[in-house]
Amino acid sequence: MFNAIQIHNDEAGYRSELTQLDPVQLPEGDVQVAVAYSGLNYKDALAITGKGKIARRFPMVPGIDLAGTVTASSHAEFAVGDQVLLNGWGVGESHWGGLAQQARLKGDWLIPLPETFTARQAMAIGTAGYTAMLCVMALEKHGIRPDSGPVLVTGAGGGVGSVAIALLAELGYEVHAATGRPQEADYLLGLGAKEIVTRESLSQPGAPLAKARWAGAVDSVGSHTLANVCAALHYNGVVAACGLAQGMDFPASVAPFILRGITLVGIDSVMRPKDERLAAWARLAEDLSLAKLDAMTQEIALAEAIQAASQLLAGQIRGRLVVDVNR
Ligand code: NDP
Repeated sequence: MFNAIQIHNDEAGYRSELTQLDPVQLPEGDVQVAVAYSGLNYKDALAITGKGKIARRFPMVPGIDLAGTVTASSHAEFAVGDQVLLNGWGVGESHWGGLAQQARLKGDWLIPLPETFTARQAMAIGTAGYTAMLCVMALEKHGIRPDSGPVLVTGAGGGVGSVAIALLAELGYEVHAATGRPQEADYLLGLGAKEIVTRESLSQPGAPLAKARWAGAVDSVGSHTLANVCAALHYNGVVAACGLAQGMDFPASVAPFILRGITLVGIDSVMRPKDERLAAWARLAEDLSLAKLDAMTQEIALAEAIQAASQLLAGQIRGRLVVDVNR
Protein backbone atom coordinates (compact mmCIF):
# COMPACT_ATOMS: atom_id res chain seq x y z
CA MET A 1 0.00 0.00 0.00
CA PHE A 2 1.13 3.60 -0.52
CA ASN A 3 0.07 7.02 0.73
CA ALA A 4 -1.75 9.46 -1.53
CA ILE A 5 -4.00 12.48 -1.45
CA GLN A 6 -7.27 11.55 -3.09
CA ILE A 7 -10.13 13.79 -4.23
CA HIS A 8 -13.67 12.44 -4.14
CA ASN A 9 -16.77 14.04 -5.62
CA ASP A 10 -19.88 11.99 -4.88
CA GLU A 11 -23.10 12.08 -2.89
CA ALA A 12 -21.06 12.86 0.24
CA GLY A 13 -19.71 15.99 -1.49
CA TYR A 14 -16.37 17.25 -2.84
CA ARG A 15 -13.49 16.41 -0.50
CA SER A 16 -9.76 15.69 -0.41
CA GLU A 17 -8.18 13.29 2.05
CA LEU A 18 -4.97 11.47 2.82
CA THR A 19 -5.52 7.81 2.06
CA GLN A 20 -3.76 4.51 1.36
CA LEU A 21 -3.98 2.96 -2.07
CA ASP A 22 -3.00 -0.40 -3.52
CA PRO A 23 -0.55 -0.25 -6.46
CA VAL A 24 -2.99 -2.40 -8.47
CA GLN A 25 -5.33 0.61 -8.44
CA LEU A 26 -2.82 2.79 -10.32
CA PRO A 27 -3.96 3.90 -13.79
CA GLU A 28 -2.51 2.47 -16.98
CA GLY A 29 0.93 3.56 -18.08
CA ASP A 30 4.22 2.15 -19.31
CA VAL A 31 6.41 3.62 -16.55
CA GLN A 32 5.96 3.29 -12.79
CA VAL A 33 7.65 5.87 -10.56
CA ALA A 34 8.47 5.91 -6.85
CA VAL A 35 7.69 9.57 -6.26
CA ALA A 36 10.17 11.49 -4.11
CA TYR A 37 8.75 15.02 -4.29
CA SER A 38 5.87 16.89 -5.84
CA GLY A 39 5.10 20.61 -5.78
CA LEU A 40 2.00 22.40 -4.61
CA ASN A 41 0.96 24.60 -7.52
CA TYR A 42 -1.98 26.98 -7.92
CA LYS A 43 -3.79 24.38 -10.04
CA ASP A 44 -3.26 21.70 -7.38
CA ALA A 45 -4.75 24.06 -4.80
CA LEU A 46 -7.80 24.63 -7.03
CA ALA A 47 -8.17 20.85 -7.44
CA ILE A 48 -7.72 19.98 -3.76
CA THR A 49 -10.15 22.64 -2.52
CA GLY A 50 -12.63 22.19 -5.39
CA LYS A 51 -12.46 25.95 -6.06
CA GLY A 52 -11.68 25.27 -9.73
CA LYS A 53 -12.84 22.53 -12.09
CA ILE A 54 -9.43 20.92 -12.42
CA ALA A 55 -10.08 17.24 -11.62
CA ARG A 56 -11.79 15.70 -14.64
CA ARG A 57 -12.66 12.34 -13.08
CA PHE A 58 -13.03 10.92 -9.59
CA PRO A 59 -11.55 9.67 -7.43
CA MET A 60 -8.49 11.69 -8.54
CA VAL A 61 -4.99 11.84 -7.12
CA PRO A 62 -3.94 15.50 -7.56
CA GLY A 63 -0.40 16.71 -8.28
CA ILE A 64 0.46 18.21 -11.67
CA ASP A 65 4.18 17.59 -11.21
CA LEU A 66 6.48 14.99 -9.68
CA ALA A 67 10.08 13.83 -9.52
CA GLY A 68 11.24 10.36 -8.56
CA THR A 69 12.82 7.08 -9.59
CA VAL A 70 11.58 4.61 -12.20
CA THR A 71 10.60 1.29 -10.56
CA ALA A 72 9.18 -0.48 -13.65
CA SER A 73 9.23 0.40 -17.32
CA SER A 74 8.28 -1.00 -20.71
CA HIS A 75 9.12 2.34 -22.38
CA ALA A 76 12.20 2.36 -24.62
CA GLU A 77 13.67 5.56 -23.12
CA PHE A 78 13.39 4.72 -19.41
CA ALA A 79 14.85 1.93 -17.28
CA VAL A 80 14.50 0.95 -13.63
CA GLY A 81 16.56 3.34 -11.49
CA ASP A 82 16.32 6.34 -13.84
CA GLN A 83 15.62 9.69 -12.20
CA VAL A 84 12.73 11.42 -13.96
CA LEU A 85 10.45 14.42 -13.70
CA LEU A 86 7.05 15.32 -15.05
CA ASN A 87 5.05 18.53 -15.56
CA GLY A 88 1.51 18.71 -16.86
CA TRP A 89 0.03 16.55 -19.65
CA GLY A 90 -3.21 16.42 -17.65
CA VAL A 91 -1.57 14.51 -14.80
CA GLY A 92 -3.35 15.43 -11.56
CA GLU A 93 -6.38 16.44 -13.68
CA SER A 94 -7.48 13.41 -15.71
CA HIS A 95 -4.68 10.95 -14.79
CA TRP A 96 -3.57 10.23 -11.19
CA GLY A 97 -0.80 12.62 -10.21
CA GLY A 98 2.19 13.33 -8.05
CA LEU A 99 0.75 13.88 -4.57
CA ALA A 100 1.31 10.19 -3.83
CA GLN A 101 4.19 7.86 -3.11
CA GLN A 102 3.67 6.02 -6.41
CA ALA A 103 2.52 6.93 -9.90
CA ARG A 104 2.05 5.04 -13.16
CA LEU A 105 2.44 7.26 -16.22
CA LYS A 106 3.05 7.41 -19.93
CA GLY A 107 6.79 7.40 -20.52
CA ASP A 108 6.26 9.97 -23.31
CA TRP A 109 5.29 12.49 -20.62
CA LEU A 110 8.53 12.08 -18.66
CA ILE A 111 11.85 13.80 -19.05
CA PRO A 112 15.13 12.85 -17.38
CA LEU A 113 15.87 14.76 -14.18
CA PRO A 114 18.57 17.32 -15.13
CA GLU A 115 21.87 16.40 -13.42
CA THR A 116 22.12 19.86 -11.86
CA PHE A 117 19.06 19.25 -9.71
CA THR A 118 18.06 16.85 -6.98
CA ALA A 119 14.46 15.61 -7.12
CA ARG A 120 13.68 18.05 -4.30
CA GLN A 121 15.17 21.02 -6.14
CA ALA A 122 13.34 20.07 -9.35
CA MET A 123 10.03 20.09 -7.50
CA ALA A 124 10.91 23.25 -5.60
CA ILE A 125 11.04 24.72 -9.12
CA GLY A 126 8.03 22.64 -10.13
CA THR A 127 5.50 23.61 -12.76
CA ALA A 128 5.45 27.20 -11.50
CA GLY A 129 9.20 27.60 -12.03
CA TYR A 130 9.24 25.77 -15.35
CA THR A 131 6.44 28.09 -16.51
CA ALA A 132 8.41 31.13 -15.32
CA MET A 133 11.30 29.91 -17.49
CA LEU A 134 8.96 29.50 -20.48
CA CYS A 135 7.83 33.12 -19.93
CA VAL A 136 11.40 34.42 -19.81
CA MET A 137 12.29 32.46 -22.96
CA ALA A 138 9.23 33.97 -24.68
CA LEU A 139 10.43 37.50 -23.83
CA GLU A 140 13.86 36.65 -25.24
CA LYS A 141 12.35 35.11 -28.38
CA HIS A 142 10.44 38.34 -28.98
CA GLY A 143 13.55 40.46 -28.66
CA ILE A 144 13.44 41.69 -25.06
CA ARG A 145 17.02 41.96 -23.78
CA PRO A 146 18.41 43.37 -20.51
CA ASP A 147 19.15 46.68 -22.28
CA SER A 148 15.58 46.94 -23.65
CA GLY A 149 14.37 48.41 -20.35
CA PRO A 150 12.76 47.31 -17.06
CA VAL A 151 10.71 44.11 -16.93
CA LEU A 152 7.69 43.78 -14.63
CA VAL A 153 6.75 40.58 -12.81
CA THR A 154 3.18 40.46 -11.41
CA GLY A 155 2.05 38.07 -8.67
CA ALA A 156 5.65 38.56 -7.57
CA GLY A 157 5.42 36.80 -4.21
CA GLY A 158 3.93 33.63 -5.71
CA GLY A 159 5.66 30.63 -7.24
CA VAL A 160 5.79 31.76 -10.89
CA GLY A 161 6.59 35.32 -9.80
CA SER A 162 9.43 34.39 -7.44
CA VAL A 163 11.20 32.17 -9.97
CA ALA A 164 10.69 34.74 -12.76
CA ILE A 165 12.31 37.47 -10.63
CA ALA A 166 15.29 35.27 -9.76
CA LEU A 167 15.81 34.25 -13.41
CA LEU A 168 15.44 37.73 -14.89
CA ALA A 169 17.74 39.28 -12.28
CA GLU A 170 20.38 36.60 -12.90
CA LEU A 171 20.19 37.34 -16.64
CA GLY A 172 20.82 41.05 -16.00
CA TYR A 173 17.33 42.52 -16.40
CA GLU A 174 16.10 45.38 -14.22
CA VAL A 175 13.16 43.68 -12.53
CA HIS A 176 10.13 45.46 -11.08
CA ALA A 177 7.97 43.32 -8.80
CA ALA A 178 4.22 43.90 -8.41
CA THR A 179 2.86 42.53 -5.15
CA GLY A 180 -0.11 42.84 -2.84
CA ARG A 181 2.17 42.01 0.08
CA PRO A 182 4.36 45.06 0.85
CA GLN A 183 5.69 43.16 3.86
CA GLU A 184 7.46 40.84 1.40
CA ALA A 185 9.45 43.70 -0.19
CA ASP A 186 12.75 42.57 1.38
CA TYR A 187 12.17 39.02 0.14
CA LEU A 188 11.51 40.27 -3.41
CA LEU A 189 14.52 42.62 -3.35
CA GLY A 190 16.59 39.65 -2.11
CA LEU A 191 15.53 37.64 -5.17
CA GLY A 192 16.85 40.47 -7.34
CA ALA A 193 13.95 42.92 -7.82
CA LYS A 194 15.05 46.56 -8.08
CA GLU A 195 11.67 48.20 -7.57
CA ILE A 196 8.41 47.25 -5.83
CA VAL A 197 5.10 48.12 -7.51
CA THR A 198 1.85 47.92 -5.54
CA ARG A 199 -0.73 45.39 -6.69
CA GLU A 200 -3.48 48.02 -6.27
CA SER A 201 -1.83 50.32 -8.84
CA LEU A 202 -2.48 47.65 -11.49
CA SER A 203 -5.56 45.74 -10.39
CA GLN A 204 -8.25 48.39 -10.96
CA PRO A 205 -9.84 49.28 -14.32
CA GLY A 206 -7.37 51.59 -16.13
CA ALA A 207 -6.95 53.75 -19.25
CA PRO A 208 -6.42 52.14 -22.68
CA LEU A 209 -2.91 53.61 -22.76
CA ALA A 210 -0.73 54.64 -19.83
CA LYS A 211 2.78 56.04 -19.39
CA ALA A 212 5.18 53.56 -21.00
CA ARG A 213 7.06 51.96 -18.08
CA TRP A 214 8.16 48.46 -19.00
CA ALA A 215 9.87 46.82 -21.98
CA GLY A 216 8.53 43.44 -20.96
CA ALA A 217 6.44 41.67 -18.36
CA VAL A 218 5.72 38.24 -16.93
CA ASP A 219 2.08 38.16 -15.81
CA SER A 220 0.59 35.40 -13.67
CA VAL A 221 -2.43 37.47 -12.63
CA GLY A 222 -4.61 38.23 -15.71
CA SER A 223 -7.75 40.42 -15.58
CA HIS A 224 -7.34 44.21 -15.11
CA THR A 225 -3.70 43.69 -14.14
CA LEU A 226 -2.84 42.22 -17.53
CA ALA A 227 -4.83 44.96 -19.28
CA ASN A 228 -2.96 47.65 -17.34
CA VAL A 229 0.38 45.98 -18.02
CA CYS A 230 -0.37 45.98 -21.76
CA ALA A 231 -1.30 49.68 -21.53
CA ALA A 232 2.01 50.53 -19.83
CA LEU A 233 4.44 48.66 -22.12
CA HIS A 234 7.07 50.49 -24.15
CA TYR A 235 6.78 50.69 -27.93
CA ASN A 236 7.25 47.07 -29.18
CA GLY A 237 6.98 45.81 -25.60
CA VAL A 238 6.16 42.16 -24.84
CA VAL A 239 4.16 40.50 -22.07
CA ALA A 240 4.19 36.76 -21.44
CA ALA A 241 0.81 35.90 -19.88
CA CYS A 242 0.53 32.61 -18.02
CA GLY A 243 -1.94 32.99 -15.16
CA LEU A 244 -5.24 34.10 -13.71
CA ALA A 245 -4.65 34.76 -10.00
CA GLN A 246 -6.79 37.91 -10.24
CA GLY A 247 -9.20 36.55 -12.83
CA MET A 248 -9.66 34.85 -16.17
CA ASP A 249 -11.14 37.95 -17.81
CA PHE A 250 -9.08 40.28 -19.97
CA PRO A 251 -10.81 43.67 -19.99
CA ALA A 252 -8.35 45.40 -22.33
CA SER A 253 -8.40 47.59 -25.44
CA VAL A 254 -6.55 47.22 -28.73
CA ALA A 255 -4.85 50.61 -28.19
CA PRO A 256 -1.47 49.27 -26.99
CA PHE A 257 -1.44 46.75 -29.87
CA ILE A 258 -2.20 49.18 -32.68
CA LEU A 259 -0.48 52.28 -31.29
CA ARG A 260 2.57 50.78 -29.58
CA GLY A 261 2.95 47.51 -31.46
CA ILE A 262 3.05 45.46 -28.27
CA THR A 263 3.01 41.65 -28.28
CA LEU A 264 0.96 39.49 -25.92
CA VAL A 265 2.42 35.99 -25.78
CA GLY A 266 0.29 33.25 -24.22
CA ILE A 267 2.20 30.67 -22.22
CA ASP A 268 0.92 27.12 -21.75
CA SER A 269 3.10 24.65 -19.89
CA VAL A 270 0.76 21.65 -19.91
CA MET A 271 0.81 20.47 -23.53
CA ARG A 272 4.24 21.89 -24.38
CA PRO A 273 6.19 19.65 -26.80
CA LYS A 274 9.04 17.63 -25.31
CA ASP A 275 11.89 19.50 -27.02
CA GLU A 276 10.69 22.79 -25.53
CA ARG A 277 10.40 21.22 -22.06
CA LEU A 278 13.96 19.92 -22.31
CA ALA A 279 15.14 23.36 -23.45
CA ALA A 280 13.37 25.09 -20.55
CA TRP A 281 14.79 22.69 -17.94
CA ALA A 282 18.27 23.05 -19.47
CA ARG A 283 17.96 26.83 -19.14
CA LEU A 284 16.76 26.50 -15.52
CA ALA A 285 19.88 24.44 -14.82
CA GLU A 286 22.00 27.27 -16.27
CA ASP A 287 20.22 30.38 -15.09
CA LEU A 288 18.52 29.72 -11.75
CA SER A 289 20.51 30.47 -8.61
CA LEU A 290 20.15 27.49 -6.27
CA ALA A 291 20.64 29.78 -3.28
CA LYS A 292 17.67 31.88 -4.40
CA LEU A 293 15.65 28.72 -5.07
CA ASP A 294 16.36 27.64 -1.52
CA ALA A 295 15.31 31.05 -0.19
CA MET A 296 11.92 30.82 -1.90
CA THR A 297 11.14 27.19 -0.92
CA GLN A 298 9.29 25.72 2.04
CA GLU A 299 8.94 21.96 2.44
CA ILE A 300 5.74 20.31 3.64
CA ALA A 301 4.65 16.71 4.26
CA LEU A 302 2.05 14.98 2.08
CA ALA A 303 -0.76 15.33 4.63
CA GLU A 304 -0.05 19.07 4.98
CA ALA A 305 -0.81 19.65 1.29
CA ILE A 306 -4.56 19.74 1.96
CA GLN A 307 -4.41 22.64 4.40
CA ALA A 308 -1.67 24.40 2.44
CA ALA A 309 -3.94 24.40 -0.64
CA SER A 310 -6.38 26.79 1.07
CA GLN A 311 -3.53 28.99 2.31
CA LEU A 312 -2.08 29.18 -1.22
CA LEU A 313 -5.39 30.31 -2.71
CA ALA A 314 -5.73 32.88 0.09
CA GLY A 315 -2.39 34.36 -1.03
CA GLN A 316 -0.66 33.38 2.23
CA ILE A 317 2.13 31.28 0.72
CA ARG A 318 5.37 32.96 -0.30
CA GLY A 319 7.36 31.43 -3.16
CA ARG A 320 7.19 27.67 -3.64
CA LEU A 321 5.92 24.73 -1.62
CA VAL A 322 7.73 21.44 -2.21
CA VAL A 323 5.97 18.31 -0.94
CA ASP A 324 7.94 15.38 0.52
CA VAL A 325 5.43 12.66 -0.33
CA ASN A 326 7.26 10.14 1.85
CA ARG A 327 6.68 11.96 5.12
P1 NDP B 1 0.79 31.40 -6.40
O1 NDP B 1 -0.48 31.34 -5.63
O2 NDP B 1 2.04 30.89 -5.82
O3 NDP B 1 1.05 32.91 -6.86
C1 NDP B 1 0.04 33.76 -7.30
C2 NDP B 1 0.36 35.16 -6.80
O4 NDP B 1 -0.53 36.08 -7.44
C3 NDP B 1 0.12 35.35 -5.31
O5 NDP B 1 1.20 34.94 -4.54
C4 NDP B 1 -0.09 36.85 -5.24
O6 NDP B 1 1.18 37.49 -5.27
C5 NDP B 1 -0.80 37.15 -6.56
N1 NDP B 1 -2.26 37.24 -6.39
C6 NDP B 1 -3.07 36.38 -5.71
N2 NDP B 1 -4.34 36.79 -5.76
C7 NDP B 1 -4.34 37.93 -6.49
C8 NDP B 1 -5.37 38.83 -6.89
N3 NDP B 1 -6.65 38.63 -6.55
N4 NDP B 1 -5.02 39.90 -7.62
C9 NDP B 1 -3.74 40.11 -7.97
N5 NDP B 1 -2.72 39.29 -7.61
C10 NDP B 1 -3.03 38.21 -6.88
O7 NDP B 1 0.47 30.65 -7.78
P2 NDP B 1 1.53 30.19 -8.92
O8 NDP B 1 2.64 31.14 -8.97
O9 NDP B 1 1.79 28.75 -8.77
O10 NDP B 1 0.63 30.39 -10.21
C11 NDP B 1 0.30 31.71 -10.64
C12 NDP B 1 -0.70 31.65 -11.79
O11 NDP B 1 -0.08 31.07 -12.92
C13 NDP B 1 -1.96 30.83 -11.50
O12 NDP B 1 -3.07 31.47 -12.05
C14 NDP B 1 -1.66 29.53 -12.21
O13 NDP B 1 -2.85 28.87 -12.58
C15 NDP B 1 -0.89 30.01 -13.40
N6 NDP B 1 -0.05 28.98 -13.99
C16 NDP B 1 -0.20 28.72 -15.32
C17 NDP B 1 0.55 27.80 -15.95
C18 NDP B 1 0.40 27.63 -17.42
O14 NDP B 1 0.78 26.59 -17.96
N7 NDP B 1 -0.10 28.62 -18.12
C19 NDP B 1 1.51 26.97 -15.20
C20 NDP B 1 1.70 27.38 -13.82
C21 NDP B 1 0.91 28.35 -13.24
P3 NDP B 1 1.48 38.79 -4.36
O15 NDP B 1 0.97 38.45 -2.99
O16 NDP B 1 2.93 39.00 -4.45
O17 NDP B 1 0.66 39.92 -4.97
